[in-house]
Amino acid sequence: MGKVMVIGCGGVASVAIHKICQNDEVFTELCIASRTVSKCDALKEKLEGSTKTKITTAQVDADDVEALTALIKKEKPEAVLNLALPYQDLTIMDACLAAGAHYIDTANYEPEDTAKFEYKWQWAYREKFEKAGLTALLGSGFDPGVTSVFSAYALKHYFDEINYIDILDCNAGDHGYPFATNFNPEINIREVSAKGSYWEDGHWVETEPMEIKRVYNFPEIGEKDMYLLHHEEIESLALNIPGIKRIRFFMTFGESYLNHLRCLEDVGMTSIEPIMYEGKEIVPLQFLKAVLPDPSSLGPRTKGKTNIGCIFVGKKDGQEKKLYIYNTCDHQECYKEVGSQAVAYTTGVPAMIGAMMVMTGTWQKPGVYNMEEFDPDPFMDALNKWGLPWKISENPELVV
Ligand code: NDP
Repeated sequence: MGKVMVIGCGGVASVAIHKICQNDEVFTELCIASRTVSKCDALKEKLEGSTKTKITTAQVDADDVEALTALIKKEKPEAVLNLALPYQDLTIMDACLAAGAHYIDTANYEPEDTAKFEYKWQWAYREKFEKAGLTALLGSGFDPGVTSVFSAYALKHYFDEINYIDILDCNAGDHGYPFATNFNPEINIREVSAKGSYWEDGHWVETEPMEIKRVYNFPEIGEKDMYLLHHEEIESLALNIPGIKRIRFFMTFGESYLNHLRCLEDVGMTSIEPIMYEGKEIVPLQFLKAVLPDPSSLGPRTKGKTNIGCIFVGKKDGQEKKLYIYNTCDHQECYKEVGSQAVAYTTGVPAMIGAMMVMTGTWQKPGVYNMEEFDPDPFMDALNKWGLPWKISENPELVV
């Protein structure tokens, strides 16, 4: 069917690339392009022989629009799947426009020097993508991504109006380290040490980091502490779900993780302000990343499950209705299948599906779109087929 280019070759990309190679009817060709080409070559070597997808690799710095444009023009993929870091979103979008390729990512743009992620920078590209006749699909991971598709699906099939959404992200995996992050530590720590916020009655309500704590009894997992965080899908869902009154996002954290994080914060290790050290400028958080376990090394050690989903409360035929749509994923099973733990798996699978939706024309519309703006049904079917089956509970416990 067509060619895709994946940019980045880290934890999430590795899963997406495994899935692309499983889906070789759609992805007949794949170019893996990243900063460190040896990682791309190693993955190519591992996968060749078990797939019909023809794989090539390339070295590229995705901050360099000219070099990336030249590479896309040379390789001629129909779509570029950005699985590098949020800092590269805009340069990769620019290169896609210049070279004529569709664009898909899993996380919204974040300037490197301010830990603030919002869609405004990427939404500003709407007209450019419309004029170029290209589709940009934003946030095709799990959260955002699948949670956005769950919302569109609930609205389409179960509700006349959704008033409340609570997005719950539970990772009950245990890797045995006192402190490690499940995906890129820099991105992860920036996210959890920022102020929390939620959307209520048409505006943002800001909270201190980790100020709001709840305990929730997760299906197939049990009771876990979870904390309210700001999360990017809230911004687009607030615009795209009519009748919405409140959207909150909660993520589970264990005691050990939080105690370590507090201590690291107190001594300044999570700061993104550069400091001088022995005549060299370093960013404390980047240094911390270098000493923490590499998330990709957690796969073989992590045991347990994730449960990520959305609780909806709204109305159907004049009656109040509630619903929980969720997926549970087992760390060890993911590792057996693709050599990665469930956090990378739950992001990499929807990244592949998003690219498939765009490449097959199922979700193609010139412009820049969030996931909930397309028909959720084909994506929901693909989740069941490609390793992230979902379940529906019609009588869930609510978050009080
Ligand atoms: P990793 O750090 O494991 O991988 C990032 C990859 O991008 C690395 O291979 C890195 O290269 C490469 N890269 C970084 N900068 C550049 C550059 N300038 N040019 C080319 N390549 C570059 O991150 P993850 O796999 O954990 O995360 C990938 C993305 O997924 C992030 O944007 C993250 O925010 C997002 N994410 C989304 C989730 C969701 O549910 N929506 C959940 C989890 C993550 P090198 O190998 O040289 O370091």
